[in-house]
Amino acid sequence: MRLTVLGSGSCVPSLKRGASGILLQASGQNILIDMGLGTLHKLLQLGITYSDVDLVGFTHVHPDHISELVPFLFASKYGEKKRDRDLTVLGGKGFLSFFESLSKTFQNWLEPENFQLEVRELTDSSMVIGDMEIRTNSVKHSEESVAYRICQGDKTVVISGDTGYCIEIVEFSRGADLLVLECSSPNSHKFDTHLNPALAGSIATESGCRRLLLTHFNPVCDEVDIGSEARENFEGELILAEDLMAVGVEAKLR
Ligand SMILES: [Zn+2]
Ligand SMILES: [Zn+2]
Repeated sequence: MRLTVLGSGSCVPSLKRGASGILLQASGQNILIDMGLGTLHKLLQLGITYSDVDLVGFTHVHPDHISELVPFLFASKYGEKKRDRDLTVLGGKGFLSFFESLSKTFQNWLEPENFQLEVRELTDSSMVIGDMEIRTNSVKHSEESVAYRICQGDKTVVISGDTGYCIEIVEFSRGADLLVLECSSPNSHKFDTHLNPALAGSIATESGCRRLLLTHFNPVCDEVDIGSEARENFEGELILAEDLMAVGVEAKLR
């Protein structure tokens, strides 16, 4: 399993960082977790386009995580190369009605023509795609917010989406080979529904994860030493996300 950060930023426009987007590749499948501003452009830089994605899982419906769903579906229908690969789109609680109102707003422009589109709510449950299992768990951000846990064989990656510190993300992350946590602000900022490096470090330590990838940085994070701040609570391997950074998901020796 290989993970590529498409956007390591937040809702604040940045020349350095796109909004949230993560690509997971395994067994010939391209899985996206979130599609914030810049995701489609970054995918093109990897040689991947709208017709090559098999599944998109949304952590929640804030615009910095979902804004390129509309251009993605529009291109799938009207692009030079019409999409013919089936697509699954996942979201948390209420996603079906969100998707319905989006479709209504854009009239029939997003309706698939040459492929099957399956839109599902996946809250605190699981599904299988190819040889991977995808599970979600509610986290502390907005009502519909979920984290994703994706397992292939003995390799596991957990992606928090936006969340505050909560026992749910600690439990859900347990034993993951790679834990991807949001880190919106430095330690001088504290929010109930977002993480800073110290809180993210605590979650990684408490869940027993040895590899931690921090992402979802507001521009202020580039003005401080986020790594040292995370080290207050975490001693394992720490990776600070950059756009287009690729990380292998390797199973631990157990
Ligand atoms: Zn966000
Ligand atoms: Zn959010």
